[in-house]
Amino acid sequence: TATWLSGTKIAKEIRESLRPEIERLTKAGVQPGLAVVLVGDDPASQVYVNKKAKTCLELGMHSEVYRLPAETEEAELLGLIDRLNRDDRIHGILVQLPLPKHIKEKNVIDAIHPSKDVDGFHPVNVGNLAIGDDCLLPCTPAGVIEMLKRGGIEIAGKHAVVVGRSNIVGKPVALLLLREHATVTITHSRTPDLASITRQADILVVAAGKPELIDRTYVKPGAVVVDVGIHRREDGTLCGDVKADDVAETAGVLTPVPGGVGPMTIVMLMKNTVEAAGRALASGKAGRG
Ligand code: NAD
Repeated sequence: TATWLSGTKIAKEIRESLRPEIERLTKAGVQPGLAVVLVGDDPASQVYVNKKAKTCLELGMHSEVYRLPAETEEAELLGLIDRLNRDDRIHGILVQLPLPKHIKEKNVIDAIHPSKDVDGFHPVNVGNLAIGDDCLLPCTPAGVIEMLKRGGIEIAGKHAVVVGRSNIVGKPVALLLLREHATVTITHSRTPDLASITRQADILVVAAGKPELIDRTYVKPGAVVVDVGIHRREDGTLCGDVKADDVAETAGVLTPVPGGVGPMTIVMLMKNTVEAAGRALASGKAGRG
């Protein structure tokens, strides 16, 4: 049966490792600052935003949360982003997705200055990721890679199969696995006979957004399975894209939901913000705060 790879535990290690750098930056007058913007009152988004703000405060970072009503005009949101772009106390700007339908997501992502784009969604960061240059990495994909590395899992030379091709998870996680020298296959909703491909994976990353899509028939015995999905069942409990109890019978390593990729995502956001603050200090833009 599989060994569980705990994101909670690894995220805690990374969180602690960030403290000395946060202290150093704060002493130098650049306390790392994260602004999170939430438009509307989606309950899941509220939970995520609160977690992000709480983690900032626990780490001694500066945190600002903007809660805007669902009917906020796009121009008003862009105005706020413009102010945050120019605010020296803020090193990271995160606009919680999804946005209400009348706001164009692309306009919002494009408006965030690439150096403050701690979600790693701006085209400049996405392009640099594809090229293999330094950039702010998207948090969930970066969290997946960090988890594998810290879990002692060798990536180089392995066949990694990714289920899902979204801009938020599937595509960037595939690029990062490639950067780590895996042989990468990307699958999606139009891939015929998905199981025949996922069964070839040494490392299987599942980000399909479909509750318990992957059972043991999709998994090669001994494979490493990373479950990115998160869903709330009708009874209130959480599950992933992987049928965990079933896959645990055959996989070598498996990440739990909750307590897997979720906590890694949040800590990578903190890491990105600290990194952005470090670059601001190095480039001479000290904070005023
Ligand atoms: P998405 O809906 O944007 O993309 C899903 C992808 O999966 C698509 O590319 C689609 O082609 C593919 N897909 C759908 N059904 C499939 C099927 N039956 N077979 C093969 N491929 C299929 O979702 P997303 O934003 O990439 O998120 C995926 C999941 O990860 C969701 O459950 C989301 O809630 C979760 N998520 C978790 C975190 C975290 O921090 N833990 C972060 C982001 C997303």
